[in-house]
Amino acid sequence: MISFQSVAKVYPDGTAAVQDLSLDIPTGRITVFVGPSGCGKTTSLRMINRMIEPTAGTIEIDGRDTRSIDAPTLRRGIGYVIQNAGLFPHRTVEDNIATVPVLQGKNRREARTAARELLERVGLPVEMGRRYPNQLSGGQQQRVGVARALAADPPVMLMDEPFSAVDPVVREQLQTEFLRLQDELGKTIVFVTHDIDEAVKLGDRIAVFAVGGRLAQFSSPADLLRR
Ligand code: ADP
Ligand code: ADP
Repeated sequence: MISFQSVAKVYPDGTAAVQDLSLDIPTGRITVFVGPSGCGKTTSLRMINRMIEPTAGTIEIDGRDTRSIDAPTLRRGIGYVIQNAGLFPHRTVEDNIATVPVLQGKNRREARTAARELLERVGLPVEMGRRYPNQLSGGQQQRVGVARALAADPPVMLMDEPFSAVDPVVREQLQTEFLRLQDELGKTIVFVTHDIDEAVKLGDRIAVFAVGGRLAQFSSPADLLRR
């Protein structure tokens, strides 16, 4: 479980991005942060892996204060997927996926073999591994982004608008495939979106953020639709 306890973030310029955020993110489920632009979703997400440090409160993962874990160790257990995939443009798709495992000490050949398996897992042909990111469609790049985050087999995945930059038809496809994959993998997922339909489709739990970075509601999709 990932537990936010009275967490706040005030940026150096005085912007109060997140205020008094307390919530428990269950293990092995998809929790969605939803709300309009600027309400603190990305800031909250990035505080989990300490890309951003809270200015107040505590975040615990399985009962451990994240401040007691050094950032590289923490991030080894936390995959991160962003909009537009954020792939390394000068590396092949296969190398994009294999890079982190190699940095973590896996031998290159094993990492490449694992990369090819991951390509299949996310619905891409193995041959695509030899291409460069700019030779792929937006949807294909997002699939590679997911595969790359999965390469280190982290128990936790942070996903920031991963499907927002692709057209609606591809987005639907990616959402459906993502749910199927999650059924197999059972990761602890925190998923940021501004799209309420996406939140309801994907979330086991939905945290609705309001302007000013406050939590307006934390509920199941069914409860959310009832209100
Ligand atoms: P969301 O993900 O919901 O769009 P963000 O977490 O990105 O919201 O931003 C929350 C608020 O904090 C916004 O008002 C945004 O402009 C502000 N903000 C984000 N990053 C910074 C920063 N580095 N410095 C100052 N303000 C920031
Ligand atoms: P994204 O939605 O992908 O986070 P943004 O455009 O919101 O992209 O933010 C891009 C970068 O700019 C982030 O690193 C964020 O922290 C920073 N940022 C966002 N809003 C502000 C702001 N008001 N002042 C300073 N930096 C900001």
